[in-house]
Amino acid sequence: MARDTGPVCKQCRREGLKLFLKGDRCFSDKCAYDRRPYGPGQHGQRRAKFSEYSRHLREKQKARRIYGVLEKQFALYFDKADAIKGVTGENLFQLLERRLDNVAFRMGFANTRKAARQLVSHSHILVNGKKVNRPSFQVKPGDEVSIRERSKKIASISESMEARGRQGIDSWIEVDAKKFAGVFKEVPGMEELQLPVEPQLIVEFYSR
Ligand code: SF4
Repeated sequence: MARDTGPVCKQCRREGLKLFLKGDRCFSDKCAYDRRPYGPGQHGQRRAKFSEYSRHLREKQKARRIYGVLEKQFALYFDKADAIKGVTGENLFQLLERRLDNVAFRMGFANTRKAARQLVSHSHILVNGKKVNRPSFQVKPGDEVSIRERSKKIASISESMEARGRQGIDSWIEVDAKKFAGVFKEVPGMEELQLPVEPQLIVEFYSR
């Protein structure tokens, strides 16, 4: 399965904001963006000139990096979103939110989407009681996502669930920590997601 293996913190520095891709480290004084809040590389500290194209491109890259989706797959999501009735930008984020790795992350089974993706592909996750090992699986409203019985003893899962419990669970998700299970109640809208991304700029990027 193809995945992005480049340096993670460079992505935040490139986008000029914290994307929270490394779990607890993002909230510690080890955060690379807090230490060096400018672009990576030799010319990172130069004042960047933003053309219309680069604004659109950066917005698309930001969204892609938040959800950990590769270029080609992201373009496929856009095509799907465009084919669905409604606002394309919102449709796009709703498709990304319904990915199983993202839902497992939102439920707190892992502290990053990357770690959640690994839980899914290593078959630790069940959807409605059935094993699903495809991170891109689309979760539907009302679906129950849970941890497989023999995986419940994995320490990182409990630790991550405890931390998420303290931070608070999103309103469209319900989690029963004792059962290691949660329900994806409904597909959230853009206002609920509160992402640092302007969907319209992504639509304009693909409409060039
Ligand atoms: Fe980004 Fe900081 Fe987290 Fe690294 S530690 S992924 S720079 S927010």
